[in-house]
Amino acid sequence: MQQIKYIDCFASVDRWSGKDSEAPWTVEKMLSDMERCRIHGALVYSNFAKELQPSVGNRLVSELCRKNPRLIPCWVALPHHCNEMSEGAKFVQEMLDNGVKAVKLFPKMHRYLLNERTIGSLLGALQEIGLPVLIDRGEHEPSVQQIDWEEIGPLCTKYPKLNVILHGVRWEATRYLLPLLQQFPNLYFEFSNHQGNRIIEFLVEKIGLDQLLFGTQMMEKSPGAAKAFIDYANIGDEHRRKIAGENLIRLLKLENIPSDYPDDHTEDIILQKARKAEPIDDMEVIDAHAHISEKGHSDNIIAFMPNSDAAGVVERNRRIGVDITCVSSWIGIWTDYKRGNQITHQAIVDFPQNIIGYATLDPNDVQDWSAELKRCYEDYSLKGIKPYFPRNRIPYNSSKYEPWFKYGHDYHLFALMHFSDNFMAEMEELASKYPEISFLLAHSGMTYETMKKHVELARKFKNVFCEITYTSVTNAVIEHMVREIGSEKVIYGSDTAMRDPIPQFGWLAYADISESDKRNILGRNMRKIIDRCFSK
Ligand SMILES: [Zn+2]
Repeated sequence: MQQIKYIDCFASVDRWSGKDSEAPWTVEKMLSDMERCRIHGALVYSNFAKELQPSVGNRLVSELCRKNPRLIPCWVALPHHCNEMSEGAKFVQEMLDNGVKAVKLFPKMHRYLLNERTIGSLLGALQEIGLPVLIDRGEHEPSVQQIDWEEIGPLCTKYPKLNVILHGVRWEATRYLLPLLQQFPNLYFEFSNHQGNRIIEFLVEKIGLDQLLFGTQMMEKSPGAAKAFIDYANIGDEHRRKIAGENLIRLLKLENIPSDYPDDHTEDIILQKARKAEPIDDMEVIDAHAHISEKGHSDNIIAFMPNSDAAGVVERNRRIGVDITCVSSWIGIWTDYKRGNQITHQAIVDFPQNIIGYATLDPNDVQDWSAELKRCYEDYSLKGIKPYFPRNRIPYNSSKYEPWFKYGHDYHLFALMHFSDNFMAEMEELASKYPEISFLLAHSGMTYETMKKHVELARKFKNVFCEITYTSVTNAVIEHMVREIGSEKVIYGSDTAMRDPIPQFGWLAYADISESDKRNILGRNMRKIIDRCFSK
């Protein structure tokens, strides 16, 4: 049977600014990642073109793609007025002569206005010839916000036949994005940063398939994360084919379609199952980090997150084979811890086999600690500790937290620790003061910098573990953790239903580590941590 072709619309070559020395970047590594993840082709631009000299980077990327049939060249353009690049039609002719299939623009970084006066001749020529323009629209990071939301409508109106591909749109941005997608059929986007819960299924229903693309943001992000998101989406294979590659093949007018990979011979069962989009059903899989909405309610001010109550989380996690999800309620960490603990308790009542609960207590409000602890752990059967500095602003080593951590220590509980302003020092103190609490450091995979700090703590304290989840799905960071501290110290978590769990799972399932390491991270380690709770 012919493979579903995966063609990545968002990848770049050459080192990028701010790259950690450990972060892999070479073309050889890109090609081997693509093979492991079964990604057949990638549209690539040069980071050198983005960050220094487009003309040099463009030439290099063209040479590279001539040698590697799985890579498809994308050039970076500047306006022509200063004679740095040819004017519109001539530039496009140079692209065609070199087999270049798309143009990426960085208006803010390259200091020009994205309007007709400045770059209109190029946009007009691209519209004429039918090749797409790519622009970063991240969300938080200024470096990946090259177009404002307000600019997108006028651009798509002014050039109604120009295909505009947005890179890096994040999951918080659905309310900005969807009305634009609905109005402008010439607007496209990819999911590397948009890991919204069930977003693929939702958008397919809402706007159809034609505007949805597969993108990874290689080499910064794990390509396996983006690949799994499309693979496991609850849509038919005919739909999957379009999002995975056919839409981009159409947009690029691609004639030489990258070839299939040889049949699967890996002995890694987790990798085999991921490639076939099957759930991991031969072991107990535990998601250590998740949040639920109130039963029957899914609206949330942070982001659009459909089906985010316990029923929705349990059902979504079943697609990848997660048996147990460890949850805290949104409202519990956000405003009303009492109501939050009731919601978590209800989730345990409704899904006793699938949900383990974190207690959420705000020391600013707790009056009677022994009554609260009894309610949470005896009456509600919660097991975890989930303090949350971003909302209550209390350092974790404050005496205000003492009764809770003391209780956790006495009963061997586990605590999921989100960053605070002085996180390393606070954790150092807690880890040695409460050796019987298993501390899971949340979001250890966010960046190499964070990972290295967390790894140091996990190396130093036997009760400290690194939980991975983050939107950045930083490429090869899990491999690094496993090398440094062993897979026994690494824990799988997804932060669903804020993010969809599938990309986080794909990040791990496609990691270049052994099957046994993956199984430790996916569930065996967390099982041991859970079994310690209330043990003698
Ligand atoms: Zn979280």
